[in-house]
Amino acid sequence: MRLFLGVPGLLLIVLSAGRLCRAFGEPTHVGAVNSQHSPQRPAHTARQDEGPVPIPEPSAKALRYFHSGTVLWVVSTLLGFLIPALFLFTGFSAHLRDWAQQTGARWVFTVALYYVAFTLLNFVIDLPLSYYAGFVRQHTYGLSNQTLGKWAGDTLKSLGVGSTIGCFIVLVFYGLLLKSPRWWWVHISVLAVPFLCLQMLITPLWIDPLFNHFGPMHNKQLEAKILALARRAGIEGGRVFEVDKSQDTNAVNAYVTGFAGSKRIVLWDTTLKKLNDREVLFIMGHEMGHYVLGHIARGIVLGSLMILVTLYAAQHFAIAFMARYGPQCGFSQLSDIASLPLMLLVIHLLTLLTTPIIYAYTRHIEHEADRFGLEITRDNHAAATSFAKMTTENLSISRPDLFTRLWRSTHPPLGERIEFCNTYKPWAAGQPLRYGHLFQQRTSDGPR
Ligand SMILES: [Zn+2]
Repeated sequence: MRLFLGVPGLLLIVLSAGRLCRAFGEPTHVGAVNSQHSPQRPAHTARQDEGPVPIPEPSAKALRYFHSGTVLWVVSTLLGFLIPALFLFTGFSAHLRDWAQQTGARWVFTVALYYVAFTLLNFVIDLPLSYYAGFVRQHTYGLSNQTLGKWAGDTLKSLGVGSTIGCFIVLVFYGLLLKSPRWWWVHISVLAVPFLCLQMLITPLWIDPLFNHFGPMHNKQLEAKILALARRAGIEGGRVFEVDKSQDTNAVNAYVTGFAGSKRIVLWDTTLKKLNDREVLFIMGHEMGHYVLGHIARGIVLGSLMILVTLYAAQHFAIAFMARYGPQCGFSQLSDIASLPLMLLVIHLLTLLTTPIIYAYTRHIEHEADRFGLEITRDNHAAATSFAKMTTENLSISRPDLFTRLWRSTHPPLGERIEFCNTYKPWAAGQPLRYGHLFQQRTSDGPR
């Protein structure tokens, strides 16, 4: 589902911060566990003979998928401006507020009613595009076996969850705008920290299971290897879940999610079907890199800072807008719930402007997670083949253009990742590892 229209203003920012954390959920992979202290192990010698992995050229189908994806991104981005603008300039937002005021009477109900009506309207307007992008297109390109019932069920559940959380956020947001017209953006940014922590804590426990079944791994042998790798990475009592994503997609993936007690690594069952054990172990090494290097916590800190900067800029931009167009739009205070489309519009613009900075950071941490995965597994070949498989299975483009890299790539291009996996072997030259100090010494030969 597209995020923009289905969620309220502040949630959009929260999600933009959340994407720093959830962005780890894309491509990752492979490995066999080898002691950093024994680079001359026979297993390495055997793997060195496997040679570099070529970067797959995109198929005609992958190119079509890529180009149509760019068109969809442009349309979706434009709608992100157009629809709130229509709500504003036609005066519809003010009419909706009047109706909510008459019906709800009290402030709390006015805000809640406006928000629910606004969300439902946006959902209906967005439905044709989200149906095409999320269902029709995925089937057309052979990327999904999802039934229409599952898609519809997931879509309605997303609407329900998004509206419930969104309603709470909008009430807090507009409550603070009312109480503290000058410093609301500071209060919200401070509140965002515990909110983001809570969001990260409960998402894998209560939200994700609404959409898919998460359980223990079926392949116990592979699970034992993964847990041994986790112990080497210094993750005691590591939790690895297998999720039935084959219901929804044919693509392969894995991610690390959760916060504090809910932290876990999740493997899509499609990944387990399509990749071999060595490749899965490298993926796990990559995900463990996120885990050990504290990328989720860093995402929360960075997300909160982004919220602060975005809201500060939003306040100034929105006030300037209101001074000029407020009478036409039917409101004169930002604390008026009729300003919600304006806040969405401004946040959409600021998010678009800051995306290249945020994605440069996520690409950096993904690269470091690749390095971690390579150093802990030292299985360059399996790492590179996992990315090559991901390129073909997910209809990815190995070398996207500059625009796509800056605005749409949370991860480094797969071509660069394959090249890095083919060439990064400091242990072979007796050079120190960047993350070697984080690895626990092995007591036995361990898994391969
Ligand atoms: Zn990652």
